[in-house]
Amino acid sequence: MILFGSPGSGKGTQAKLLRHCLNGPHISTGDMLRKHIDAQDGIGQQVVQLMKSGKLVPDELVNEFVETRIAEPDCRSGIILDGYPRTLNQAGVLLGMMGRYKFQPAVVHLVVDCDKIVARLSGRRQCPVCGTLYSLKTNPPKVAGICDLDGATLITREDDRESVIRERLREYESQTRPLLNYFQQAGVPMFEISGAGAPPDQIMRNICDALAKSGLIQGVPLEYPKAVPAAGVAP
Ligand code: AMP
Repeated sequence: MILFGSPGSGKGTQAKLLRHCLNGPHISTGDMLRKHIDAQDGIGQQVVQLMKSGKLVPDELVNEFVETRIAEPDCRSGIILDGYPRTLNQAGVLLGMMGRYKFQPAVVHLVVDCDKIVARLSGRRQCPVCGTLYSLKTNPPKVAGICDLDGATLITREDDRESVIRERLREYESQTRPLLNYFQQAGVPMFEISGAGAPPDQIMRNICDALAKSGLIQGVPLEYPKAVPAAGVAP
C-alpha cells in the first residue's frame, strides 16, 4: 500500500496504525534517512543539508533503500510505504519492483487542505526514541515536552520550521502530486480518504473500510488499537 499525501497529511501516523489492519511492515524512507543522519555516516552527511532545506534527496539513494528493504522476509505478504515514491522516477522503479514481487499496489491518498498543513507541521513535536508524533494544539503529550510512551524529551524536526515547510510543500506540488496521474494511468487502484476532520483511528477505519469494500483486504478487524498520540488530528 502506497500512503500518499502532502507533508503533514498524516501518512506516518496512519502507517503506524495500519500495521494492525494490514499484514506488512511500515517502510518510511524519511525515517531511514534520519537514521543515517543520527549515525553521522556517509549517507547521513550526503543528505543532511538537502533534508534540512526541505529538498528531496537523490532518487537512486531511496530507490536502493526500498529495493533492499523489500527483499527482506517480513515483506513477503505486503508493505506499507510512507513517503515513497515521491518522483516519477521512483514511481517507475517501484512499479517494477511490485511486478517482480507479484504485489498488487494500491494508493491511499490522504487529502488535507493546504491551509491546515502548515499549522499542523509547525506545531508538531516528535519523540526521538520511538518516533511518536504529537501536536501541541490538538494532541499534546500529558507532560509538556515529554513522550507519553517512553519519557524521552520531545524535539521539533529541523524540517518542521515554517520556511522549510514551505519548501517541502513546493517539492510536493512540483514533483510528487503529478504521481497521482501517473498511478491512475497505470491502472493502480486509488482511494481518496480525508486526512482531517476525524481522529486518526477513525481515519484508519475509513481506509480499512475502503480497502475491504474493494476486496483488497479481507475485512476490517473488530478490535482496533487505541489511537496513538499523533500530530494532525485537528478537524
Ligand atoms: P518525510 O519524513 O517522509 O517527510 O521525509 C523527510 C525528508 O526526507 C523529505 O523532505 C526529503 O528531504 C527526504 N525524503 C524522504 N523520502 C524521500 C523520497 N522518497 N525521495 C526523496 N527524498 C525523500
